[in-house]
Amino acid sequence: MSIFENVLKQMDKAFNYLEVRSDVKKILESPERILEVSIPVKMDNGEVKVFTGYRVQYNSARGPTKGGIRFHPNVTLDEVKSLASWMTWKTAVVNLPFGGAKGGVIVNPKELSERELEELSREYIRAIADFVGVEKDIPAPDVYTNPKIMAWMMDEYEKIVRHKEPGVITGKPTFLGGSEGRNIATALGAFYVIEKAVEKIKLDEKPKFAIQGFGNAGMFLAKILHERGYKVIAVSDSKGGIYDPNGLDIPKVIETKKSMGAVVNYDAEKISNEELLTLKVDVLVPAALENQITKENADKIQAKYIAEVANGPTTPEADEILFERGVFLTPDILTNAGGVTVSYFEWVQNRMGYYWSVEEVNRKLEHRMHKAFDEIYEITQSKKVDMRTAAYILAIGRVAKAVEARL
Ligand code: NAD
Repeated sequence: MSIFENVLKQMDKAFNYLEVRSDVKKILESPERILEVSIPVKMDNGEVKVFTGYRVQYNSARGPTKGGIRFHPNVTLDEVKSLASWMTWKTAVVNLPFGGAKGGVIVNPKELSERELEELSREYIRAIADFVGVEKDIPAPDVYTNPKIMAWMMDEYEKIVRHKEPGVITGKPTFLGGSEGRNIATALGAFYVIEKAVEKIKLDEKPKFAIQGFGNAGMFLAKILHERGYKVIAVSDSKGGIYDPNGLDIPKVIETKKSMGAVVNYDAEKISNEELLTLKVDVLVPAALENQITKENADKIQAKYIAEVANGPTTPEADEILFERGVFLTPDILTNAGGVTVSYFEWVQNRMGYYWSVEEVNRKLEHRMHKAFDEIYEITQSKKVDMRTAAYILAIGRVAKAVEARL
């Protein structure tokens, strides 16, 4: 199944509600630039391995392109193109002065030593250095990349351009110009969206959650929910899931994940990822990878609300089924936009050389997320569409305006 085909289908729905010129539509359906690079890395055993990497800059009409870099064995160009397109719509949903991009390297980073991982990270940035920059394209972390990798990449870029340029990459450690609050931004932004959604659809005051994926996004969201008294009754990672109907002790699950590598080592009932998706919960949070909710399992989902923290977890066919069944869904391009929003704050702070407190960052984040939710919800009411279509109407409308003004 082509993920990019799914993206085009999602966009198509929104085009029905917008008056977009056909030449502008063509531009919006095509990535601006696709880079494919070969990255030779000298492995610890002396052998040279060549990895394939991509960077797709999808659309820059609203500003420099922005998007994370994924290190994963299943990375494909189709996936990177889709993620770059979603970034374009996401930055527009939260009204940032950015376009969208995404990068990826086909690699299993868990099989690399720290030195090999560093060489891969530095070589990747060398390979694309001419095409990135504070006013061109600004990478960030994504699946299996982190602040340490961002630090190596920034350092390599600065060596190439021979001056300091912290704003070239976001998601850096705070002691190297990273923003306060960036590590939890995706999760906190999602929490602000969930808060609004729970209120709008009048769920129980303390709904129960299941979260698929326990990385940067899923783990911090579990922590935030737990700290605010919500029950997270199931979580999973790539090794499987755990379930406790009375609520998991999230700090202990985090400790277990950190010390033993997987949530399944925590003492609770074991469940598969598939079982987690169809559990009896109020809110289901996919926070791992694409295409998890499909036409095969959409009618078995018992949650009343799906908060898409992962990018592209629901296929268009599943979307239809969920909408017909009255399941409320906040789409990825809204729910997980907190990450890129605080990345934007990081870029702004780097360029000013003046840094904000975590309280200030979170306050600004809350404002942006609530505003985006309200704008999208308002479109659902006026146009009688679901939240995803409404988010695309808002985003595509904004990008189309910028594209058209340049023609
Ligand atoms: P991460 O690498 O920190 O964590 C990924 C998690 O997913 C890990 O716990 C991994 O074990 C788990 N996982 C992998 N395959 C799985 C499977 N088949 N079933 C269940 N779990 C599985 O990545 P992340 O940054 O948390 O990203 C997760 C999702 O959120 C991705 O779709 C990413 O694009 C999206 N996202 C992340 C950010 C961010 O700032 N981190 C921002 C926006 C969107």
